[in-house]
Amino acid sequence: MRFNTRLLQGTNPFDTTGATLPAVYQTSAFAHESAEQLEKVFAGKAPGFAYTRISNPTVMAFEKRIATLEGGVDAVACASGMAAVSMALLNILESGDEIISSSALFGGTLDLLADFERFGIKTRFVKNMTAAEIAPQINGCTKVIFAELFGNPRLDVVDLAEVSTLAKQHKIPLVIDSTTATAALILPLAHGADIVVHSSSKYINGSGDALSGIIVDGGKFAWDFERFSALAGYQKMGKFAYTARLRGDLWRNFGPCIAPQNAYLNCLGLETLGLRMERLCANALALAEFLETQSELAGVSYPGLASSPYKGFVDSQMEKGQGGAILTLRAGSKERAFRLVNALKIPKIATNIGDVRTLVIHPASTIYLHSSEEKKSDAGVYDDMIRVSVGIEDIEDLIEDFGQAIESMKGE
Ligand SMILES: *Cc1c(COP(=O)(O)O)cnc(C)c1O
Repeated sequence: MRFNTRLLQGTNPFDTTGATLPAVYQTSAFAHESAEQLEKVFAGKAPGFAYTRISNPTVMAFEKRIATLEGGVDAVACASGMAAVSMALLNILESGDEIISSSALFGGTLDLLADFERFGIKTRFVKNMTAAEIAPQINGCTKVIFAELFGNPRLDVVDLAEVSTLAKQHKIPLVIDSTTATAALILPLAHGADIVVHSSSKYINGSGDALSGIIVDGGKFAWDFERFSALAGYQKMGKFAYTARLRGDLWRNFGPCIAPQNAYLNCLGLETLGLRMERLCANALALAEFLETQSELAGVSYPGLASSPYKGFVDSQMEKGQGGAILTLRAGSKERAFRLVNALKIPKIATNIGDVRTLVIHPASTIYLHSSEEKKSDAGVYDDMIRVSVGIEDIEDLIEDFGQAIESMKGE
């Protein structure tokens, strides 16, 4: 089956009614017949649910759908994308360990990696996710290589074949945040990634109505349990070792579970992921091509543009050669950027991506408020830059609206 067909094949393992979508088990606890029965459920000796922080049928339906779609052995849903990134990394790491990461990251993740420093976990940043830049940073403490597939908002593209080959040579797991690409454009596990994370608040949800994140385990990484001692004790779980430790230990104890209602909303959104991404990517390319013709602008960045240095990777690596639905433009100064944003009539000025509505933001004054000038420029964030998360509106309307907003900047 192909992608759009597969999106509609999600089963409801706990349903007997034939409902096409999972029921919302909006409950904290699950009662059992006897103390003995609850003891068995707690010990994992009987199937069943005890408490929604640990497992819930609606959440499980969402997790199974994503695991199947991404080609992983299991998936663990979280309360937000940030919770998913935190848990995905911390499940591997201990004090003294090091991460090698792209510097082109979402602002929240940059802040998180700075938080990790206080727990003795250091990140070595590389400007470009190439083997040549990563290799010299690898040492005995390196336990994770991390990047966003399309950096948000630098919009660089990771060459998974090259980076995963290097990671494998050094027996280091490769964790990919695929939020901005989605399973509709690429399945990172099939291209050599070991763990995939998403902020499912974005394209998976699709309508901007629920925060959540998800971690997918490819189940193929050969953990050396002496070196990755955080996972020691889960050796007997074989290919499920990473997820078993997450579920049985770190994720359960930190408590970042997703609300059942939000898991349901994601199951609903997921069904149209393929359809939405097709439209969103087509709109983004058309808008980027239009913006590129505007001499009032100081630059337009979109990986699917023929002029993009990443167009080659988009063509060779992405399923249908699509470059995602985010583009950035540079207006020449912060003042001009603000003027342009304020002159737009259709897009909402909001800090989100992956909505069906077009959203615009000035990242430097918002998402990167806490970042140093160096961190900002390494992340591809400039004072005159606007990020556009393109929506499903009629493209003619978007082009007219950006056209009139650019026109209004002239001569001022
Ligand atoms: C939004 C985003 C996150 C954080 O997700 P939340 O759901 O907002 O917590 C992480 N990574 C990327 C690439 C994002 O765009």
